[in-house]
Amino acid sequence: MIAILKHGTTPEQTQHLIQWLARMDLDVHVSEGAEVTVLGLIGDTSRVDMELLSSLDMVETVKRVSEPFKQANRKFHPNDTVIEVGGVKIGGGNFAMMAGPCSVESEEQIIGIAKAVKASGANILRGGAFKPRTSPYAFQGMGGEGIDLLLKARAETGLPIVTEIMNISTLDLFADVDIIQVGARNMQNFDLLKELGKTDKPILLKRGLANTLQELLMSAEYIMSEGNERVMLCERGIRTFETYTRNTLDLSAVSVLHDLSHLPVIVDPSHATGKAKLVPPMAVAATAAGADGLIIEVHNDPAHALCDGAQSLTPAQFDELNQRVNKIREAIV
Ligand code: PEP
Ligand code: MN
Repeated sequence: MIAILKHGTTPEQTQHLIQWLARMDLDVHVSEGAEVTVLGLIGDTSRVDMELLSSLDMVETVKRVSEPFKQANRKFHPNDTVIEVGGVKIGGGNFAMMAGPCSVESEEQIIGIAKAVKASGANILRGGAFKPRTSPYAFQGMGGEGIDLLLKARAETGLPIVTEIMNISTLDLFADVDIIQVGARNMQNFDLLKELGKTDKPILLKRGLANTLQELLMSAEYIMSEGNERVMLCERGIRTFETYTRNTLDLSAVSVLHDLSHLPVIVDPSHATGKAKLVPPMAVAATAAGADGLIIEVHNDPAHALCDGAQSLTPAQFDELNQRVNKIREAIV
């Protein structure tokens, strides 16, 4: 249930109302927007007398929320969430261009790519240090050393970094990381989500290979319900019967998620398609669909990449993609 308070309600009146609701064993989530304050009532709201609540002077309207996700719900929080990280804003009209290799492979590789993608207009550097690979014999990433190299690349370029966590036991290694990625395979690792909810790090939450949008939002809810509201949702393609592409990019997810939630929506056309040739057109399409950002795999030598070479763009291809994306952004504002 949500209660929208009238414009002009004082903080004392709001506190008074919250205490009254708390006596009914409800947790109250307060969202202060530019125009209105929205109270989200979490818990057993069946005992709340809606008529009585609506009749209070300070209350504009009361609505029952049928969706099981509350904090991620736009009804709770009508304005877009804007996440600020290392001087970069994401959401609410601010676009994140995240780019970099699938995996960090060496100092020379990550710093070279970081400089190249920055020169083309990327504002966040991606790079995997812990890699979830289908085969246990495939390159598993450089681990903590990979994170150290990402930090060096940040020091060289000023780009904030995003990298994936696979196991909460490694959380200490992420202390200086700007954005923690939860990969598709861990989208429903609820223990991991809860622990990340206790941190103050922005989280890039990728949609699972076979998960619905509601399940994605419920996973965001796990993080948010522990106190961390800085979550970005990422559409990265889902499993369908189609085998030509690695996954099927569900572009309608951008609009659906924007309707249902206030969280920024990022699209990953690299993992969605699995083919470098398909990445630019899908990046352009995602931008036109209103995505708040993209995450693109870029490698200096895709043919010899240790991971995901087939879907990686060269720095020159990324530069061209970025110019096309910028044109689309100008066209849709
Ligand atoms: C990645 O970003 O390199 C990755 C493994 O992504 P996903 O979890 O979407 O497969
Ligand atoms: Mn990859």
